[in-house]
Amino acid sequence: MLRFAKLVVALTPLFAPVAVTAQSAEELALVREIFADLNPRSIAENREHCGYIGLDDEGSLTFSEPTPGDSDSCLADDPVNIQVITTSYHTHAAFSPDYSSELPSGSDMEGDEDEGIDGWVATPGGRLWYIDTDDMTTRQVCGIGCLPSDPSFIAGDSGIIEQSYSYDELVIKLGE
Ligand SMILES: [Zn+2]
Repeated sequence: MLRFAKLVVALTPLFAPVAVTAQSAEELALVREIFADLNPRSIAENREHCGYIGLDDEGSLTFSEPTPGDSDSCLADDPVNIQVITTSYHTHAAFSPDYSSELPSGSDMEGDEDEGIDGWVATPGGRLWYIDTDDMTTRQVCGIGCLPSDPSFIAGDSGIIEQSYSYDELVIKLGE
């Protein structure tokens, strides 16, 4: 909640809300760079890692150092180098037949919505998801193996995974 309060204060004088929603090619390239290192680490340690992407005080795209979480949750530290947060990012630890970790969770979407930002999620199977909280949808930016993946990942373990879900569809899919 504190983080949200700070975000609002940071946003108001600098940008109209339009700046928050843009998902640029530059940001996608940065995300792929972050996850190229972070997803293998997350899989090896079997814990999520999470952080933020946004603009520094010179207006350049940057990201915060990832915070380690545990096997099914992660709470990112407040970024010290970001003036305007645009998105969160997090990984989903190692493959487990006990979790539907190939998809964002309902609470992933709720968390981003609460903070007024969008989000990026990397899965053990190497999928990359984008969470858009303007219309509360999530979509696969790229599929299995587009990011480094867990060698023990079993495709199909979570059933059929669509290219995109609304929040309501996702919650039904995950049986939450
Ligand atoms: Zn998640």
